[in-house]
Amino acid sequence: MAKFEDLEIWWVTGAQLLYGGDAVVAVDSHSKEMVDGLNNSGNLPIKIVYKGTANSSKEVDDIMKAASNDCRCVGLITWMHTFSPAKMWIHGLQHLHKPLLHLHTQYNAEIPWKTMDMDFMNLNQSAHGDREFGHICSRMRIPRKVVVGYWKEKDTQERIAVWSRVAAAWADAQDMLIIRFGDQMNNVAVTDGDKVDAELRLGYHVDYCPVSELMEYFKKVEDGAVKALIDEYFAIYAVDNDVKDPNGDKYRVVWNAAKAELAIRACLVSKGAKGFTTNFDDLGTDDINDPNFVGFDQIPGLASQRLMAEGYGFGAEGDWKSAALYRTVWYMTQGLEGGCSFLEDYTLNFDGKKSSILQAHMLEVCPLIAEEKPRLEVHFLGIGIRKAQTARLVFTSKPGDGVTATVVDMGNRFRLIVNDVECIKSKPLPKLPVASALWIPMPNFEVGAGAWILAGGTHHSCFSYSITPEYWMDYAEIAGIEMLHIDKNTTIEGFQREMRYNEVYYMLNKALK
Ligand code: MN
Repeated sequence: MAKFEDLEIWWVTGAQLLYGGDAVVAVDSHSKEMVDGLNNSGNLPIKIVYKGTANSSKEVDDIMKAASNDCRCVGLITWMHTFSPAKMWIHGLQHLHKPLLHLHTQYNAEIPWKTMDMDFMNLNQSAHGDREFGHICSRMRIPRKVVVGYWKEKDTQERIAVWSRVAAAWADAQDMLIIRFGDQMNNVAVTDGDKVDAELRLGYHVDYCPVSELMEYFKKVEDGAVKALIDEYFAIYAVDNDVKDPNGDKYRVVWNAAKAELAIRACLVSKGAKGFTTNFDDLGTDDINDPNFVGFDQIPGLASQRLMAEGYGFGAEGDWKSAALYRTVWYMTQGLEGGCSFLEDYTLNFDGKKSSILQAHMLEVCPLIAEEKPRLEVHFLGIGIRKAQTARLVFTSKPGDGVTATVVDMGNRFRLIVNDVECIKSKPLPKLPVASALWIPMPNFEVGAGAWILAGGTHHSCFSYSITPEYWMDYAEIAGIEMLHIDKNTTIEGFQREMRYNEVYYMLNKALK
């Protein structure tokens, strides 16, 4: 999996030759100093590579084409040091196929009131240069992020950092394969959608793999590898002695779960996949009561939990959109504190102003959000084609603020729905041994859940403690998809008005393309 250190953000400075060669030399040296300053700030996850000044239409065109073709380059930052006549950017912008960040800053911080002369002015012209550039981007309907702020300020650097992470995750999604083991859960609408349109708009490709093919990987897993993985489980999770007993029934169940994890990982690696889905109604055709049975005893929940933590996208019941989105959430939050997980709206807890939603799944919750050391437990799971004992990690999640998101297919567009949530302290569930979180959606349970339902949001979502809504704004801008954000200021009246306006906007937008 590509690491941030292998990626680059390119920086190009807009200028022109009107002010003479000396000015361009100075502009070049200022730009280098700024790029070095940003790279040395410690606040940017991906290095910025300075690509020089662009002083003509030809130079702009060259840099845009090069950025679009370079696989290390995940995005481009432009800054108009001087007035850079924007007609010069038209052809280049037509060739740019990477995310764009327009930085409105200035080399010099404060006006040197007593000494400022025309030479100083010529070297600190972004106040009007960036407006000229902004105009042509708006005129051409170029999607981009505009960051305004002094380049040495932490706030400015952090906004660039957010966009850098999203741009990297976008690049990751353009080369993303999601494997579905089995199909969608029958009759479910919200987790399905147009896979062709998903590839066109969002980049990722979705294939299926018959469970019978996965079983071939399962059969090839060697006992020594299973034993080593079980030893790893016992070292990092809390495990009761009856599970550890090699002659016990529970140990056999954990053995099968470890074997499933090794089989799925091997299959994903051999296909170059970054995410997968499962379906509890499709676990292969062998009879579990046959003494020679070889296969999954239940859904491979422990495998899904651990593979999510490793960065593989996951969606339950064939939910490929959630699998892809989870991978994106995990990818863009690499190295940040917090954690992320696929989650499902499980059951409601009415409690006045503290009314909340329990988030869980049958098994598949990512241990990255755990508050305490996860417990490896074995319990009966009576859903799907196999009703059997199965292994899972059990924990509750950390209290704290987070953001959850989902993508739905509205027929004429993809809609990203984002909700700020407050995770509150959950309580033990002795009779429901699954991992869980408990949250209050913003602005409160009634409006948050009401807006989500009016927007057509799924019962599955991808949650993270580490991201802010700004990540999703940047993602939706790059993808060119609709985003509805439910936050502390949301009202049902305003939200419905926004959805009605959007309906017209996207209808026209589609008709124009
Ligand atoms: Mn589900």
